[in-house]
Amino acid sequence: MAASHPTRKHLEPEVSAEESRPSNFIRDLMIEDLKAGSYEGRVQTRFPPEPNGYLHIGHAKAICLDFGLANEFGGHTNLRFDDTNPSKEETEYVESIMADVKWLGFEWDGLFYASDYFETLYEWAVRLIQAGKAYVDDLSADQIREYRGTLTKPGKESPYRNRSVAENLDLFERMKAGEFPDGARVLRAKIDMSSPNLNLRDPVMYRILHAEHHRTGRRWCIYPMYDYAHGQSDSIERVTHSMCTLEFEAHRPLYNWFIEQLGIFPSRQIEFDRLNLTYTILSKRKLLQLVEQGQVRGWDDPRMPTISGIRRRGYTPEAIRNFCQAIGVSRTNGVIELEMLEHFVRQDLNLRAPRAMAVLRPLKVVLDNYPEHLVEEMEAVNNPEDPAAGTRKVPFTGTLYIERDDFREEPSPQYYRLSPGREVRLRYGYCITATRVVKDPRGEITEVHCRYDPETRGGHTPDGRKVKSTIHWVSAAHAVDCEVRLYEPLFTKKDPNPTEEGAEFTDSLNPNSLVVLRGSKAEPSLASAPVGSRYQFERLGYFAVDPDTTPGKPVFNRTVALKDTWAKIEKKGQSREKASRR
Ligand code: ATP
Ligand code: MG
Repeated sequence: MAASHPTRKHLEPEVSAEESRPSNFIRDLMIEDLKAGSYEGRVQTRFPPEPNGYLHIGHAKAICLDFGLANEFGGHTNLRFDDTNPSKEETEYVESIMADVKWLGFEWDGLFYASDYFETLYEWAVRLIQAGKAYVDDLSADQIREYRGTLTKPGKESPYRNRSVAENLDLFERMKAGEFPDGARVLRAKIDMSSPNLNLRDPVMYRILHAEHHRTGRRWCIYPMYDYAHGQSDSIERVTHSMCTLEFEAHRPLYNWFIEQLGIFPSRQIEFDRLNLTYTILSKRKLLQLVEQGQVRGWDDPRMPTISGIRRRGYTPEAIRNFCQAIGVSRTNGVIELEMLEHFVRQDLNLRAPRAMAVLRPLKVVLDNYPEHLVEEMEAVNNPEDPAAGTRKVPFTGTLYIERDDFREEPSPQYYRLSPGREVRLRYGYCITATRVVKDPRGEITEVHCRYDPETRGGHTPDGRKVKSTIHWVSAAHAVDCEVRLYEPLFTKKDPNPTEEGAEFTDSLNPNSLVVLRGSKAEPSLASAPVGSRYQFERLGYFAVDPDTTPGKPVFNRTVALKDTWAKIEKKGQSREKASRR
């Protein structure tokens, strides 16, 4: 692992101004703990993914909290793989998770696996048995569920609950030795079958599973359950603040019970709201289903909300971190508008993406009065937001491509772009006026003939006449053929989770989520754009070079269009708020 801590650096400017930080109740709890002198003045966190899929933008929120808050206090963060479920976990996922955390800009201090602790967890389970706090139960999974009761019905004690310590020790030892088949017996904590909290009704600690584990192989055939493994792993690592999502709130008494019974390091569990995004599914299980059914091309399909998908799409780690900082944390679950995430992507790319010209759906324009064979070099600004980015030369000739959409033979009154008799400005080029069109036998326009005004080089009209519209273009002779992939959200419904019986989240898959344009044309500077590089195509949006690119044939993913709909949504929200305050 590198010795540098990029996270610390990049977080500094963001958090140095106290008022620029949205309030965060977790930070407040940490400050309280530090003031009270708990945990020897330390803050230590962990990010604990289960390696059963690729990370998604929801995990990015957890990562930013776990790493970001620890960094603020000069603390440490471990990456711990919660690998207690051998049948669903794979090394591929472990590797992708590590790559994604690094890409987001974070470095872990310790790298651990819950499976590192299997021996200690086993010894601690034996200790609980010896203390009369755990027992081996022969009930089946169904019976255990039935005996557990419900919120309104108290649980019933298992007939095996009062086995002797000696018998429990013997049976647990034999469970470990592989004497029993899967599901034959479990180890349960002996707490309270009438507790109003179902998690305290003798929760299962261990189950028998004869399966190959990605790290421990066949060494174990009993595996600890999440509730027993998680808190104890926190405690072994001396994690001070263990952050997790709100669905674990009701598990907290159990988390604390194990720590108290074992007398081990008292890690503190703190719950926060899970990120939900409109038009998006954030569940590894469901995302896996999309991959397996071939609804997307893979975990890194640019339509996927996975870190690898949005990376391929062109999102930047800075944009994701800024977004996570802005949404903050809360104690109630809500839904964030997808447009808000896109707003942060746009905001960041606006600062860093060089500009370029590309024509997605080309229409040929011939400048009849432009000298034949003349090639001019037009000077174009690389990034108006960043003077240091300089300028580049773009070749201009008498045969150009413009966007098909930028010409109308019969324009409506509001249409100010090119049409017969109408003058427009070519960005960094000349002003041109359309004179006639050429059509193919089907009536489709194949060429627009124009005259250019040689006095307007660079787009200035010497007589000061108004030219209402400026359009982009590429020189036909110099254009690079490219493929462009346009995206829409994967789902058409704001909340794709089914609400009716028998419905599936895949019911609202968007048939237009991907549109592939194979005949697009880009300016020559894009011929050898490196995979992963990002551009603003003038007037069209931000684009990133896809790994499917081959020599001479770039493939671009539209990261996000230029129009910021979030600003509008926010304004509407504010006026709604104002209205409700009145
Ligand atoms: P999924 O249902 O997608 O598999 P999970 O919660 O089971 O999610 P884990 O690998 O167990 O995934 O999660 C690792 C950490 O990331 C946990 O602390 C979890 O609470 C957090 N996390 C997962 N999904 C979200 C989300 N949508 N928003 C915020 N945090 C999340
Ligand atoms: Mg999980």
